[in-house]
Amino acid sequence: MCRLLRVRWTLTPKTAPQPWIACGGCGGLRAFQSSGKIRLNANGRKLDAWLIYKCLTCNKTWNRVIFERQALRDIDPAVLEALQSNDPEWIRAESFNLDALRRKAQRIDEFPDVDIVRQVLGDTEGWTRLEIELAVPFAAGTRLDRLLASELKLSRSRLQALHQVGLLRIAPERSDMLRRRIRSGTVVGIDLEAVTDRDMLWKPLATGSPL
Ligand SMILES: [Zn+2]
Repeated sequence: MCRLLRVRWTLTPKTAPQPWIACGGCGGLRAFQSSGKIRLNANGRKLDAWLIYKCLTCNKTWNRVIFERQALRDIDPAVLEALQSNDPEWIRAESFNLDALRRKAQRIDEFPDVDIVRQVLGDTEGWTRLEIELAVPFAAGTRLDRLLASELKLSRSRLQALHQVGLLRIAPERSDMLRRRIRSGTVVGIDLEAVTDRDMLWKPLATGSPL
């Protein structure tokens, strides 16, 4: 049986996606950024809700519909509370709603920079295999090979080589996983039996703790 060092990396993008919208202020297609604010409009027993964006060039606002003419009784009370209080966490999650953005914009800029929280799930004495489980609560425009290369200080060609010989495995296994964007539930397993600097080099990078 192989001995494992298991870690979980929770990855949160630093910047929300930016849709390109025809700007009514400065003209032409422009990148818009979420303002982190909600606008509500009550009409009798019905409610409209928008997330407000701003043109990065001229600051003109664009309101993205969250819902329109929704009967108050049909709105989840937790959602209503979040909207009415401008709950920053709820709004942040909504600003990563790529499906909703894709319905409004042909082009959406995503940003690869992520904050990473590393957590050790299991650390067996004399471990020879590293397993990294990814948790990605918000859509992140980061490719798996870029993430691993930068965090484990490896070249992407070395990663490819490890993958090709089966020393690096990714679950679930799909074609071209290394080039795909990171997603929750992915587990990267790296067999380091033949590597002598496991504890000196790999462990601090994987766990984020110095020796
Ligand atoms: Zn503008």
